[in-house]
Amino acid sequence: MTVAATIVERLAAVRAEIEAACERAGRNPAGVTLVAVTKTHPLETIREAIVAGLTDLGENRAQEFVLKAEAAAGTGLMPRWHFIGHLQRNKARQVLPYAGVLHSVDSERLVAEIERRATRPLPCYLEVNVAGEASKHGVTVEELPALLACAKAASNIEVAGLMTIAPIVDDPEQARPVFRRLRELASAHGLTGLSMGMTNDYAVAIEEGATVVRVGRAIFGERR
Ligand SMILES: *Cc1c(COP(=O)(O)O)cnc(C)c1O
Repeated sequence: MTVAATIVERLAAVRAEIEAACERAGRNPAGVTLVAVTKTHPLETIREAIVAGLTDLGENRAQEFVLKAEAAAGTGLMPRWHFIGHLQRNKARQVLPYAGVLHSVDSERLVAEIERRATRPLPCYLEVNVAGEASKHGVTVEELPALLACAKAASNIEVAGLMTIAPIVDDPEQARPVFRRLRELASAHGLTGLSMGMTNDYAVAIEEGATVVRVGRAIFGERR
């Protein structure tokens, strides 16, 4: 089977899984945006993803993000680009022109940088390190109110909701409390957007209310 046919087939399986999870949770699948994570894959994969019907693509590294978004635009491909990784302040200037959505606002200093560099209000998710893992970015649950207040005060930031990356676990059920906690936090602050769930755990994340799932390997196979 060609790579393109494989993507089409895998994508159909992911969409079926999203629908099944929505069905279990009594949700409308239209309320879940699928962001296809293309990191490490070549420009050709981006083309195939778009041909397969994907409209939202995600990348997590600044340099790769800019190179791909630029190259794609050069060939007429204009998906909505989601920046999903940690954004260093000194990379914001390069990344912002291509970012349709930023999933990883994790400090007040980054908010200030976006406020200074963005030329339009950018939909942003605030990243919360719900499980408090040392290896992860994102603010703690305790730090969230201050970051939220700061982001809300920024005219170039449109707070879309909260984002988290669940710990790597053997059984996706073990990630459920993390997703539930993020939903409770969002609800406590009157936020509706929830960017949570990846290849291993997106079904559970949807059952817990995810409005955006970020899926790479389930669509494109293992990374290069
Ligand atoms: C790589 C990545 C994903 C996708 O991971 P998969 O396991 O390939 O689905 C989602 N979110 C973030 C922040 C990532 O870096």
